[in-house]
Amino acid sequence: MKLCRFSSGGKTSFGVIEGESVFEIKDDPFAPGFSGKVTKGAGHKLADVRLLAPVLPSKIVAIGLNYKAHAAEFGKPLPEEPMIFIKPSTAVIGPEDEIVYPAHMSHRVDYEGELGLVIGKRAKEVLAKDAAEFILGYTCVNDVTARDLQGKDIQYTRAKGFDTFAPVGPVIDTAIDPLDVTIHTYLNGQMKQNTSSKDMIFDVFQLVSFVSHVMTLLPGDIITTGTPSGIGKMRPGDVVEVRIDGIGNLRNKVVDGRASRKLWE
Ligand code: MG
Repeated sequence: MKLCRFSSGGKTSFGVIEGESVFEIKDDPFAPGFSGKVTKGAGHKLADVRLLAPVLPSKIVAIGLNYKAHAAEFGKPLPEEPMIFIKPSTAVIGPEDEIVYPAHMSHRVDYEGELGLVIGKRAKEVLAKDAAEFILGYTCVNDVTARDLQGKDIQYTRAKGFDTFAPVGPVIDTAIDPLDVTIHTYLNGQMKQNTSSKDMIFDVFQLVSFVSHVMTLLPGDIITTGTPSGIGKMRPGDVVEVRIDGIGNLRNKVVDGRASRKLWE
């Protein structure tokens, strides 16, 4: 099932996508007791609606260095346990929304195509063997990063936390096999990343277990599972796409976003 959020005629709804159609659903996939089954309401042509970020998370927990080849491209040793950081909920944007390049602070902004998992049930101290029942489904995430600030600050809050630095979507797919999907990232139509989730150091179930032993995960929260090798910079005017088989294509354009006010007067 492909769950989405969309707006049509000024109204926002959860929906399910089937072929070229989207059907409104009254069910809230993040409500306690959601059965996993939905009742379809009015249908629309997909081309006639605007897809939104499929979820508005309370937090995004992101994983650093979760692919061997990506650790190697940074010259870093493999982590012994997952390295986690938070991207703020205010960074979330949806398909076709614009990534705003914060040119007043950064001169190096990178894409990081990633598989994101979406929590369906409140999760605390979950075991990896039980983790699947706490996952609603999977989506594409672009962990947009101000690489120059990541190095300068050491900790990641600023580098990863600008508004628009977390494109999510286009859907939450509830059926893919998260242990073997290919993550592709394209910059202006040219493929830059192409790696299977098989190459993750810690798989999605281990990540749910690890993170939920640190903090409670709420319905709608996202764990974005780290980027493969092949990261690189974007410039205003570029179009970046994260494609994962079975989920779809998360496409966003980068625009220049100098602050409208000076930082220090
Ligand atoms: Mg990342």
